[in-house]
Amino acid sequence: MALQQRPPIESCCPDGFQYMHPIMRKNYGNWAYHDDPRPGVLRHVANDGDQVWTVRAGTQRILDLYTLRQLCDIGDQYGEGYVRFTIRSNIEYMVADEAKVVPLINALEDQGFIVGGTKNSVTMISHTQGWLHCDIPGTDASGVVKAMMDELIDEFRNWNMPNRVHITTSCCQINCGGQGDIAINVQHTKPPKINHDLVANVCERPSVVARCPVAAIRPAMVNGKPSLEVDEKKCICCGACYPPCPPMQINDAEHTKLAIWVGGNHSNARSKPTFQKLVAAGIPNNPPRWPEATAVVKQILRAYKEDARDWERINDWVERIGWPRFFERTGLPFTKYHIDNWRGARKSLNASTHIRL
Ligand code: SF4
Ligand code: SF4
Repeated sequence: MALQQRPPIESCCPDGFQYMHPIMRKNYGNWAYHDDPRPGVLRHVANDGDQVWTVRAGTQRILDLYTLRQLCDIGDQYGEGYVRFTIRSNIEYMVADEAKVVPLINALEDQGFIVGGTKNSVTMISHTQGWLHCDIPGTDASGVVKAMMDELIDEFRNWNMPNRVHITTSCCQINCGGQGDIAINVQHTKPPKINHDLVANVCERPSVVARCPVAAIRPAMVNGKPSLEVDEKKCICCGACYPPCPPMQINDAEHTKLAIWVGGNHSNARSKPTFQKLVAAGIPNNPPRWPEATAVVKQILRAYKEDARDWERINDWVERIGWPRFFERTGLPFTKYHIDNWRGARKSLNASTHIRL
């Protein structure tokens, strides 16, 4: 008898079409336009005249089961049973009947959710969530987001900004942290501290040496044990050696800081993609409310709101007024640390196994 293989129970992403609102499925790829009747709501109009409204509410991304059920119950009771999550962790309800929009918004707001995040608002801050699942976080990025969005709630609910604002955070300095109009990223300021008793047992030394982008790590014998040493003059405090070698601890309550970067834009819809630039460094990594980082973000948003022209994203605004005026307008201090005068790349990056210039 032929052996029957057990089919996989769960494999990869399920087909999204089965979960789409029927009007969206029917008109897939066949939309004429959309408009914005009110903050948090989009009306999508298909070429054949079909219409569907999407209502967007912010969530904290890391959702407990109770909140998820609550959100789904609202969708069943006041919507038409269809939801999706946006890439910035907002939940969106789809309804084909305009009369359902206001009761749906009221139900969401009555239960403590906020509706908004569309058009020229500050939408939900996207964040990495390494504090829960990763091995190298230096801060709780989701906590930073919660503290910050509590203070930016009116900017989420209203269309106050010249154009949309995307803010991102990350919980370490090197990996999946984002680039956005404003990015709050971890900044290590001291080289790793090495626990030489553990290195030989825990770390694969050649791969740690190869991991360093500036070739600052060398094998060494310390107290008769094989270990590693760091040339602190070369080290750029990136933290890349910490994931493959946890005894090279770089997170530090005092010396791990936050830095704020401005003007990153992935899109090339109207202008070329742009890299973000550092505008504030050495900000205390100060849980549970991170007031210093929030104050800097609010300073930047205030200046952008007052000074930018309609439709200018933050990078367009800075491009027009120039960086010196950006610092004047925001009131952020311009320091020697903003000047990119690092000349080691050609020599030291060539020394690593990975990067060749
Ligand atoms: S940003 Fe860094 S710490 Fe956070 S999840 Fe990504 S790799 Fe992990
Ligand atoms: S990997 Fe980064 S933190 Fe580690 S020694 Fe090299 S430059 Fe310094």
